[in-house]
Amino acid sequence: MGETIFSKIIRKEIPADIVYESETVLAFRDIKPQAPVHILIIPKITDIETAKDINPAEHGQLLADMFDAANKIAKDLGISESGYRLVINSGPDAGQEVCHLHMHLLGGRKLNWPPG
Ligand code: AMP
Repeated sequence: MGETIFSKIIRKEIPADIVYESETVLAFRDIKPQAPVHILIIPKITDIETAKDINPAEHGQLLADMFDAANKIAKDLGISESGYRLVINSGPDAGQEVCHLHMHLLGGRKLNWPPG
């Protein structure tokens, strides 16, 4: 379960523009950026396909690690003060393409609301 293009990026079998890595989390630039800063933050474990698979008892620390990564990356890339959006698409109506939990970090321009 859980083999996706992101598994290959975690194993460094295909290239990615990695901006952050810890024991539990990997973050890299989205291949089709929707904003000047568009980073994907993913857990290194591959068994959480969507947000609905999150189990607070099991994944609480991992989620904290993902938010910690997001905040550190935003600071490193200079958008901590200007602002940024964190998005998790979950399931077909949200347009989730890759079945490996991932958080989009978007910033570097004024973002519209509501999203399409
Ligand atoms: P989602 O629609 O939320 O599932 O987002 C999946 C994201 O993964 C999209 O924004 C894609 O552009 C991005 N993506 C797919 N393949 C790659 C890749 N090899 N490297 C970086 N980003 C990718």
